[in-house]
Amino acid sequence: MKTLESLQQTRRYSRQIMLPAIDLAGQERLLNSRVLLVGMGGLGCAAAPYLASAGVGELTLVDGDTIDLSNLQRQILFTEADLGQHKASIAAKRLQALNPDIAIKAIPNFADLAQLQELVQQHDVVLDCTDNLATRLAINDACVQAKVPLVSGAAIRFEGQLCAFSNKQAGPCYRCVSQLFGEQQLSCLEAGIFAPVVGVVGAAQACLALQILGEFGAIPWHQLQLFDGFRFEWQRVAIAAHAGCCCQQHATPTKD
Ligand SMILES: [Zn+2]
Repeated sequence: MKTLESLQQTRRYSRQIMLPAIDLAGQERLLNSRVLLVGMGGLGCAAAPYLASAGVGELTLVDGDTIDLSNLQRQILFTEADLGQHKASIAAKRLQALNPDIAIKAIPNFADLAQLQELVQQHDVVLDCTDNLATRLAINDACVQAKVPLVSGAAIRFEGQLCAFSNKQAGPCYRCVSQLFGEQQLSCLEAGIFAPVVGVVGAAQACLALQILGEFGAIPWHQLQLFDGFRFEWQRVAIAAHAGCCCQQHATPTKD
């Protein structure tokens, strides 16, 4: 169990410790938390700095991609000097400079289902910041199996999507949502992306993850939040479990 060890650490987190809903106890819960971030593109670059600066004790960053000039429009942890280098490694370096107190691990490869299953089990919350359906479904299935909460984010064109899945009960899960909407397979490469939309959604993913880990706030579990960056509007849609989905088999009903 990690505790706030120095006056300097207490000062670093003082502005959130002074919030009655967080307090010292909430801060120590964050220090003892482990978050897995899959995808260090626009969403990951927006979410990770808030997790690091807020004092989440352990961050694991997974991404096999390298930094391209066309990423710099929205992936704000990277600079021109980083072109060609691995996103996960550079992001880890930047975040460690932001907060040397926490442990950050970079995994600069694309994780397969087996590796995801192993990683998910070792973390308290997973952030899906990826951009393709196959990986999203693999992350979901690993989280459902391990009963680890998943905060899913997506962004394309002017549209953002966000949802928190507890995975502590028999659904719904991300797979239920994808079955419901028949999600498009388009990526930012094909469809384009308005940069601040990934910032809005990524920061919102960090917000939900901190609430879950710190045990404060009212978490909108299983509510699909849709952000329209063109009209500047949010919509909220309650989602239901899909009959026959994997979440119906793996999860057993629990009290929480
Ligand atoms: Zn499901």
